[in-house]
Amino acid sequence: MKRRDFIKAGAAAGAASLISQSASATKLINIFPDDKISPVVIASANGIEAVKKAYEIIATGNDALDGVIAGVNLVEDDPNDHSVGLGGLPNEDGVVELDSCCMHGPTHNAGAVAAIRNIRNPSKVARLVMERTDHVLIVGKGALRFARRHGFEEENLLTDETRKIWLHWKENISDKDDWFPPEEKEHNHSVLMNERLTGTINCNALDLKGNLSGVTTTSGLSYKIPGRVGDSPIIGAGLYVDNEIGACGSTGRGEENLKNLSSFMVVEFMRMGQSPEEACLSMCKRIVEHARARFLKDKNGNPNFNVKFYAINKMGEFGSAAIKGPFKYSVCDLEGARHKEGAFLMKNES
Ligand code: ASP
Repeated sequence: MKRRDFIKAGAAAGAASLISQSASATKLINIFPDDKISPVVIASANGIEAVKKAYEIIATGNDALDGVIAGVNLVEDDPNDHSVGLGGLPNEDGVVELDSCCMHGPTHNAGAVAAIRNIRNPSKVARLVMERTDHVLIVGKGALRFARRHGFEEENLLTDETRKIWLHWKENISDKDDWFPPEEKEHNHSVLMNERLTGTINCNALDLKGNLSGVTTTSGLSYKIPGRVGDSPIIGAGLYVDNEIGACGSTGRGEENLKNLSSFMVVEFMRMGQSPEEACLSMCKRIVEHARARFLKDKNGNPNFNVKFYAINKMGEFGSAAIKGPFKYSVCDLEGARHKEGAFLMKNES
């Protein structure tokens, strides 16, 4: 029997009881005692350095959570990634507001911060919420105060480049307000300037002990209404980990993940016996079925947004899928860090 078949059998035998399904999945680890667990780390495409870093940490025996947080910290610290941490694109007022959460498989504990300003590593603060409070989610000024009490330094996360990109957006959204764009093109950020950029890093890993953890961190939707919170800090939406089954996180239009509790559902699809890639694709289909509102459709009736998932299961199988592709994701295992093509439902027309 293949390992995945065993999960399927276990899930069927467990009927409606999640507890007995989990018990079957737990046994699965024990019936292959000779199998060595080899660590695996998966992340969004912008996480190639993150998966490398996380893998180094995990391969020397550390907890998956230590690895994934250190991995995404590299991206949070990178001013050239405009979707995360320092240099993330700001809200409509030109202020960077960050969302992040983490989830630790072995303890099934989680922590998150939302709409936090001036702190470049919200993933570290999310971890402290998990480990040093009795709460799961702290937002806004409360999150900043909490971070400061733990010794985090405040800094302006808007770089000169992102300030110019924001200013370009501000000056070009309407010709009925008082903001004028310069007559001469001062700089060229065409891709960033013509779109409402989204972006995030999600990173999930399986460690040498067979434990799973994950983290998601983002500056969220660019030019959002101040205080808007996306899926990234919401457990079950932008990230979910069940140590007996798998882990999944997401990037893309957060609102649809909030309405569908997507990352939780991907893990549930894996519990039902689907491979990580199948589970991610099932979730993409579910979101498309639910995206009935006219403002979510393009002229052909297809979704006018994208959502991507990154999943890994208890056996170290991994996969990724998006509503629209082609696209790449990052992975690191015994074969090293690399980009791989994800599965997708439809071709991106742009
Ligand atoms: N999911 C993020 C949010 O909605 C953005 C993204 O991943 O592109 O805030």
